[in-house]
Amino acid sequence: MNTHLSREDLLGIGMTSQRRRDQLIEKLRSAGVCDDEVLQVIRNMPRHLFVDEAMSNRAYENCALPIGYGQTISQPLIVARMTQALLGSDPARRPKKLLEVGTGSGYQAAILSLLVDEVYSVERIYELYTRTRGLCRRLQFSNIHLKHADGGWGWPEHAPFDAIIVTAAPEEVPQELLSQLKPGGRMVIPVGRMDNVQRLMLIERTQSGYEAEELEAVSFVPFLSGRVNQ
Ligand code: SAH
Repeated sequence: MNTHLSREDLLGIGMTSQRRRDQLIEKLRSAGVCDDEVLQVIRNMPRHLFVDEAMSNRAYENCALPIGYGQTISQPLIVARMTQALLGSDPARRPKKLLEVGTGSGYQAAILSLLVDEVYSVERIYELYTRTRGLCRRLQFSNIHLKHADGGWGWPEHAPFDAIIVTAAPEEVPQELLSQLKPGGRMVIPVGRMDNVQRLMLIERTQSGYEAEELEAVSFVPFLSGRVNQ
């Protein structure tokens, strides 16, 4: 496989002009995303490389897109809101070491990798894990660490984490993930069944327990247990 990408690959000449990226950023801003650093990272990320090639002309629209195996890359607005909630507003308390459950295309992990020191991300579908591992290498994201595993168990060897982001919806928050969060750490997770309203939750671990806040109604693919090997 090609080990590096040309400038044209990154810019997506023709289909993904800078103007369309700028329009997306304006949409996010008018929908209430105000963290300039988050907006800047989204503006510069070549999202067209993370979606199916047939869909790459839609990569800068504010919509979820298929990435194969029945999974989707989230809508940019949701990525922006989740990232913003995870980072918090206090620069002094910015997470450094972060866990993502549900690597998928790697887009969310790539965004985070430019905002925190280390991103650990787990994916249960083997094919998605290997495809994204290849893309991360080509894009030289050396602080993204990937594992093929059931994320319900977190990544105990690297726990505890300053922050945890879950990009598939379980019916309840997995206990193991709560226990891998540092005191003072934050988790952003969609909770609920697919045929029902899912709520995006922001959970903070305090010295004595956990505090949860509901952010908004969302629609994510289900969080499933076990690994898929093909
Ligand atoms: N963050 C991804 C979103 C992908 S969709 C992106 O930016 O593209 C959610 C992903 O979560 C899917 O790839 C799905 O296979 C994965 N997933 C669901 N349950 C999981 C689990 N228990 N452990 C690990 N990955 C899981």
